[in-house]
Amino acid sequence: MALTLLLLTLLLLICGAFGDKHFGYDGPNGPNHWGDSYNGCVGKHQSPINIEEHIVTNVTLPLLKFIGLDHARDAYLTNNGHTAVLRLNDSGPAMITGGPLGSVQYVFEQLHFHWGENDLEGSEDLINNHSFAMELHVVFYKQNYGSMAHAIDHSDGLTVLAYFFEAGDDDNPTYEPIVNAVSNIQSVESNVTLAKPMNLESILIPNHVSIQDYFTYNGSLTTPPCSESVIWIDFKDNLRLSHKQIAAFRNIQSTEGVPLTHNFRPVQPLEDRQIFHNIPITDIDSKNSGQSTILALLSLTCAAVILTAPSEIWTGFFNLLI
Ligand SMILES: [Zn+2]
Repeated sequence: MALTLLLLTLLLLICGAFGDKHFGYDGPNGPNHWGDSYNGCVGKHQSPINIEEHIVTNVTLPLLKFIGLDHARDAYLTNNGHTAVLRLNDSGPAMITGGPLGSVQYVFEQLHFHWGENDLEGSEDLINNHSFAMELHVVFYKQNYGSMAHAIDHSDGLTVLAYFFEAGDDDNPTYEPIVNAVSNIQSVESNVTLAKPMNLESILIPNHVSIQDYFTYNGSLTTPPCSESVIWIDFKDNLRLSHKQIAAFRNIQSTEGVPLTHNFRPVQPLEDRQIFHNIPITDIDSKNSGQSTILALLSLTCAAVILTAPSEIWTGFFNLLI
């Protein structure tokens, strides 16, 4: 009897220890069941969400600024069973400040990707119900909290930058070093150092993307423990990767021992949250100068009409006034 009880206790302990680590994207380990093991995943301010542009509040926040992106660093890519994660070997922090973050600094922790079974889906946040083929998350923690582990306990602990990718025919050269490394991290917990040091600037400030044009809202981690500690910053301009580059990610193994063909969580209710759209100052200037031009043209037209009007009209006009 005592032995049975001991075995039962051991079994429960083992299941408890491993149960926490097992989350996936299908069946009994899928997103609908994450809340069974992780209370955080049934919270009221969860991510991802569907960002509907007709309900966003337009704002103009102070400029977002990056610090310490100006040099290349050694980087390594890991398969954690849920995604491919890129981290830097320490050589001075890369940071972000400004925008919805205020004047405090957030320190780069890691970046990783979400994708789908095909190029018609894959992103976590949706824009006007549109799913992108892939989404890049760049994770920073608030410097004051000292580490990622401490930061996730605070509502302003993390900020995650989200970049959306459409699939096309041409390879995106910026991502080639990462895509090449993905083929060397097929098994779970394997990692590989990138062939060349990585310059984060090319990833974080891509050509043709305005980093001041973004949606921002308060949400959560999109994987267990789903902590509601994230200030999301979703860039509005999209990027491109080739079909082949995205396909490379679908071959890595998941914690469940099968290819990780998809790893996006379905959208969660917005509840009482507001989504803000940051309109860059330059856009406002150009819109204002556009309005000024229209006003100036109208004034000139009016002046021309008045000056060329026949004298009878003027007489009639003054009679009316009297
Ligand atoms: Zn993510």
